[in-house]
Formats: sequence, structure tokens, C-alpha cells
Amino acid sequence: MPTQEQILHTLKEYFGYDSFRPLQEDIVDSVFNRNDNMVIMPTGGGKSICYQLPALLLPGITLVISPLIALMKDQVDGLRANGVQAAFVNSSQNEKEQQEIYQQILDKDIKLLYVAPESLSFLDVMLSQIEISLIAIDEAHCISAWGHDFRPAYTQLGYLKNRFPDTPIIALTATADKATRRDICEQLNIPNAKQFLASFDRKNLSLEVRPGNKRIEQIINFLKDKPNDAGIIYCLSRKTTEMLAEKLQVQGFIAEAYHAGINHEKRAEVQEGFINDNVQIVCATIAFGMGIDKSNVRWVIHYNLPKNIEGYYQEIGRAGRDGLPSSTLLFHSYADVVQLQKFATTSGNQEVQMAKLDRMKQYADSLSCRRKILLSYFGELIEEDCGNCDVCKNPPSFIDGTIIAQKALSTVVRIKEEEPIGTVIDVLRGAQNAVVLDKGYQNLKTYGIANDISWKDWQQYIIQLINQGYLEIAFHLNNKLKLTSLSKKVLFEGEKVSLANLAEFDKLKETAAEQVKKVTANTLFDKLRALRLELAKEAGIPAYQIFNDASLKE
Ligand code: ADP
Ligand code: MG
Repeated sequence: MPTQEQILHTLKEYFGYDSFRPLQEDIVDSVFNRNDNMVIMPTGGGKSICYQLPALLLPGITLVISPLIALMKDQVDGLRANGVQAAFVNSSQNEKEQQEIYQQILDKDIKLLYVAPESLSFLDVMLSQIEISLIAIDEAHCISAWGHDFRPAYTQLGYLKNRFPDTPIIALTATADKATRRDICEQLNIPNAKQFLASFDRKNLSLEVRPGNKRIEQIINFLKDKPNDAGIIYCLSRKTTEMLAEKLQVQGFIAEAYHAGINHEKRAEVQEGFINDNVQIVCATIAFGMGIDKSNVRWVIHYNLPKNIEGYYQEIGRAGRDGLPSSTLLFHSYADVVQLQKFATTSGNQEVQMAKLDRMKQYADSLSCRRKILLSYFGELIEEDCGNCDVCKNPPSFIDGTIIAQKALSTVVRIKEEEPIGTVIDVLRGAQNAVVLDKGYQNLKTYGIANDISWKDWQQYIIQLINQGYLEIAFHLNNKLKLTSLSKKVLFEGEKVSLANLAEFDKLKETAAEQVKKVTANTLFDKLRALRLELAKEAGIPAYQIFNDASLKE
């Protein structure tokens, strides 16, 4: 076991750091003590050091299982630049390249070997000829169907412990709720793994959720006071990333789209440009960001609702890794929810996906401290409200919504749970359209009992009822509204229902409208940016090559 001094010396010499971050030191010690380890640490927390540093001081090779073939090369290049003997083996290489690496391994010229799980079986023979000191499993949540990024190739990894019973395993992930954690240890056959749970609290990230109307205008306005700040906009579809990048370019921003359908060179160019501050904004699908090491991302926007909290937290976690205040903004739209529900029902593991989406939705609709919800999701409880989310900054007021809820629920009962939201509202408001009249809904007892509430307000109330679990949408049955087990408490057991005062929503809408107005105000800066864009177009080169934003500001 190396001394403290040797360890710190290696940390400085190969990685350039003077000290460890919280938990890193304990984890490294635990590795040297030959324990199995399970590390849960947020993105950017510094998980790599936990196996890279021991790798340098252990006698044999450290095997790193990583699912991200695309990133392996970057990681290995980065290590090599620091003088670490690292290599990778994956399906992107030809046989000759692989043979060369095998030779280096046999010659003991490699300390860290990155391997895609799919490639492990090919390596099996070679692995029996060398000393393996440590096995690191990065992105370990991929092994669990309870995780949010399940990869079948990962499920084979359980054999590693049987194959190398004396080699310590370190499993690392940024995203795993409790069930997932337990599952990871079970599947990897490391029941006694030491658990290291770093704090997930990223106090420097402000959290904000806004209704998703006029998103582009809202984004442009959001960027007004961040003319040079790097940021990422996550979108659900490739098409949206391109549309958005184009719209932002028209506004003079240096924005690029990034998704898996773009060719490899272009993607590398965008990524490089972003890292080097030549591209300010990347409009991306979730394909972007894994492993991107950029500490000064100042903001992250979710143009669409993410599929689950794990993904969301990981994505916003790419902002503010340098610890400086950074903003996150999530647009919440009902259309997104419906879309995501459709995805979830067509994907495998439907129930898990749906449950996770539900929690995401609850987060977005939350009328209490958002950070509390996020942290409790990862098993961390904080007592005080955070003060750095929109709900804390602007707490809502509530009304007694019991009667409203009773009216809505009893209408759903009377139409036998056969209609979607729109028709339910039509009945409540006494509409005379074809659907209502054809089905004879005008004869129902609750027909027209609530036309004092506008259509839009009804929609908001019903969504709140859905989010509180009093109703649900059967999206596999044309989005019909269905009762839940909670419904009867309201209908028959006198349960009181609180609903957020819709004046709050109106206020939100007003601010959005104000923001849209402000957008049209032309500043000198905007004009300069437009000029740059024109010049670039004329010269046929990217705008950043003309002059960068910093010089533009002067
Ligand atoms: P993770 O894998 O947990 O997302 P990384 O291992 O990629 O995080 O580290 C994130 C960033 O933190 C990197 O830029 C890394 O250089 C930096 N870092 C890690 N450990 C330290 C440390 N002890 N001191 C300073 N910076 C560190
Ligand atoms: Mg990592």
C-alpha cells in the first residue's frame, strides 16, 4: 500500500492537483485496501481520479469498462497527454491496431485499459495472461434495468467477479436512485461493496421551470444578459436542435446543432468549438455532453421535458462545474408529456419508464422547493428550502380546490371515464359541440355546472389534479381521463384538495409576455452581432473566425 506522500505526489505529478476533493481520498484508500466499492458522485464530482490514481500505483493493469466508445479516445488521449500509459480497445479499431495494443499490454506498457463491454469477451484469453489489479466500471447504472440508461451489454459484467475473484471492483455512477444502487451491487456480485455517496447538492445551480409557450422568444431573452456565456440547450428531437440553432444563428448567436445523426467530423468540430469557447451555444439531443470536460458552462436549458430526473440532473449538472453561479431553465409543456408517454409505452420496461416520467412531471409541476425534490430523489434530505429555485424565490399561494376537484371527478364518473380532458371540460362548461350532443352528454347531471371557470383555467386545474394523482391519463386509450385510487377519497371521503392559485400562472404568463416584448428592443450589441454574421456569410467562414465575442464587446 502506497504512503500518503506517494499518493499526493502522484496526484500532483500526473493530474496537477494539490489536494483531493471530498470523498476522493477515502475512495482511493478503500481501493488500496482491496475493497469493492460503489461510488455515487454527481457528474463533474471527480470520479475518474478514484480509479485513475490507484491505477498508477498498483502493480498490474486497471481495466476500465466504459459504455461510451465515442469518448474513450478522448479520455485516453487526455491521460496520455498527462504521461499516463493508457489505451483503449473497442469495435472502432481494426485488428492490427488491436494487436498492437495487446502487445503493449503484454509488454506491461499499459497501466489503464479502457474497454467497451462488448469487447470484453474477445479480450478474455489475453486477460488471463496479465495481472489485473483493479476493475473500474464507469457509468455503472447502465447495468440496471432500474437505471435510466440500461445497456444490455452491461449485464454480462456480473461474470467479472467470478472470473477475477481477488481483484477489487470499483463501480461508479452519477445517477442512481436507491433501487438502482442495490441492483448494481447485486448484479456485479459485490454485495459487500463499500458505498460512497457524495453530496448531490449543487448549490451554485439555480433551478427554474417555466411554461413552454413562446420558448424561442424566452430563450433569446434569457440570453440577453449572457451574451458571451457558454450554454447547452437540450431538445427531444434532432429536428428541434437544428431549427433552434438556425433561429439563434439568425439572432447572431454562435450556435450549433449536435445530435447522433450529424456526421462524426462535424460533431467533433462542434464539440471542440464549444470546449474552446468558439461555439457559444450547442443545441443538442442528450447525445451531447457525456464526458465533455468544460468547467465554465454557465447555463443549461431544457427545451423539452426530459424523460426522467436522472437524465435531467445529469444534464443540468454540466453547468457550473467550476462552482460559479450558473442558471438552469426547464420548459414544461403538456405536449411534451404526452409525447414522452408515447415513447415510454413503446420502449421496453414500460412501467419503469412511466414511473420515472411521472416523477419528472411532478418535479416540473412542483409547488415546493425543487432542490428538495431532486435531492430526495437521490436519497439526500435537506431541511431548509434552498432559496435558489424559482419556487423558493416566488412561492405560490393556494386555494381550497375541493369543490373544483369534486366537480371534475364526478363528471369523469358520469362520462364513464371515456373521454379526454377536452371533452370533460366541455361537459363541465356546458358546451354544445357535436361530441357533447352526439353522445347525449347534455343530459348529464354535471353538464354546465362550472361554466364560471374559463376553459384554460379548467385545463390548468385538471392538470394539477392529474399531477396530484387524483386523475390519470390513459394515453394508451386515446388519452382518456381515468379515476385513480385517490379519486374516491375526494368523492366519498371528504378529502380536501389544494390547488395553486391560477393567478400565479397568469403572473408567469405575464412575465413571459414581458420578456417577449423586451426581446424586440435592439441594442448596439445585437447590431454588432448581426454585422459579424453578415461579414461571415459574405466571407463564407464561421462567424467566430471573424472576431470573437470578447473583442466584439470592446
Ligand atoms: P466525473 O467523472 O465524476 O463526472 P471527472 O472525473 O471527469 O468527473 O472530473 C471532473 C472535473 O473535475 C475534471 O475537470 C477534473 O479534472 C476535475 N477534478 C477532479 N478531481 C479534482 C481535484 N482533486 N482537484 C481539482 N480538480 C479535480
Ligand atoms: Mg466520468
